[in-house]
Amino acid sequence: MLLNENFAKLPGNYLFSTVAKKRGEYAAAHPEAEIISLGIGDVTMGLPPAVIAALHEAVEEQAQPATFQGYGPDGGYEFLRQTIAAGDFASRGLDISAEEIYVSDGAKQDSGNIQELFAPGAKIALTDPVYPVYVDSNVMAGRAGEYSEATGTWSNLTYLPTNAENGFVPELPADDVDVVYLCLPNNPTGTVLTKDQLQVWVDWANRTGAVILFDAAYEAFITEEGVPHSIYECEGARTCAIEIRSFSKTAGFTGLRLSYTVIPRDLERDGQSLLALWNRRQGTKFNQAPYIVQKAGLALYSEAGKAEARERIDYYLKNAGTIKAALEAQGFACFGGVNSPYVWLRTGGLSSWEFFDQLLEQCQIVGTPGSGFGPAGEGYFRLTGFGSADNTAEACARLAQLKL
Ligand SMILES: *Cc1c(COP(=O)(O)O)cnc(C)c1O
Repeated sequence: MLLNENFAKLPGNYLFSTVAKKRGEYAAAHPEAEIISLGIGDVTMGLPPAVIAALHEAVEEQAQPATFQGYGPDGGYEFLRQTIAAGDFASRGLDISAEEIYVSDGAKQDSGNIQELFAPGAKIALTDPVYPVYVDSNVMAGRAGEYSEATGTWSNLTYLPTNAENGFVPELPADDVDVVYLCLPNNPTGTVLTKDQLQVWVDWANRTGAVILFDAAYEAFITEEGVPHSIYECEGARTCAIEIRSFSKTAGFTGLRLSYTVIPRDLERDGQSLLALWNRRQGTKFNQAPYIVQKAGLALYSEAGKAEARERIDYYLKNAGTIKAALEAQGFACFGGVNSPYVWLRTGGLSSWEFFDQLLEQCQIVGTPGSGFGPAGEGYFRLTGFGSADNTAEACARLAQLKL
């Protein structure tokens, strides 16, 4: 066999292509319809002015030999790492040093690449429904076993269902697990764990030797007290957890690309430092985020940058709250939308795709079927606050007419 046979095991990713196909068919049959997408998983407002100003300045620096920057240092520029350590961790009383912060050009990349640190036979657990990158990257590495069409699951992965019944609090794995992915606030469900609930996971990992991969891409959307902004708020997390952060949803960097991964020096397995392994991995395969983008990221820690990013997050959160209220007025059980741009609703007696069709036909609204995120997402549906306020208001007026 010439090629990596694991790629052939991957089922087609039909979720967003099927959404686009159904939307296209509806639009063709109803050319007058004004379809509103509440399925958007991307920010829509422009970048904060402080970021734009920093970009312009950094671009000018690139024009002159005296200020030109070529290859940057592995791990990221010191100015950014120091500022992240102070602004995201020391400011919350957390002990994370600049050396433990590895800058990158995306949380998708890092959450997909981090599995390279673990043995081919490492046992992986993930919550269900889930951000598909965690699953597919382990499939490509040959760690997931065989896929079952019937159950929608992989034979070697441990699934931790989160649903209305367990309050979206996953149970600790019953079997031996080496690595667990936790995404909080969660995509797609929009739900969170309290600090006490997350502490249970940290204690479990320290007890069993498992490593927690903590995806905090939506940290900036947290509005409630008692919800941890970082896993390092939990006691003992420095010896069991890796945290991945992104500037994408925080500040509109989905096109610009900037993120970072935290690996504490105290995190060791088999007598080796995971930070050292990551440094080696990234140093070999990655030449850092562009200088101008790291400068743009730095601008987010200025007073103006913080305030401008906050305005955008509040705008999306307000949309999410509006959507949630409109759905609840219609009797739908809804989750998320408070510490997250995502609203996750129960589709009543309908399957996720049946609900998709009804929403499109009756309201001309496009969303995302929960079953596309894993078997436990069946019977749920995701709507997002990333649209414009006007479109969101119009969509909510239409939702008031929905009859199932
Ligand atoms: C959007 C998102 C990210 C961000 O990825 P980037 O590559 O930094 O844009 C990471 N994790 C989850 C769960 C996401 O939804």
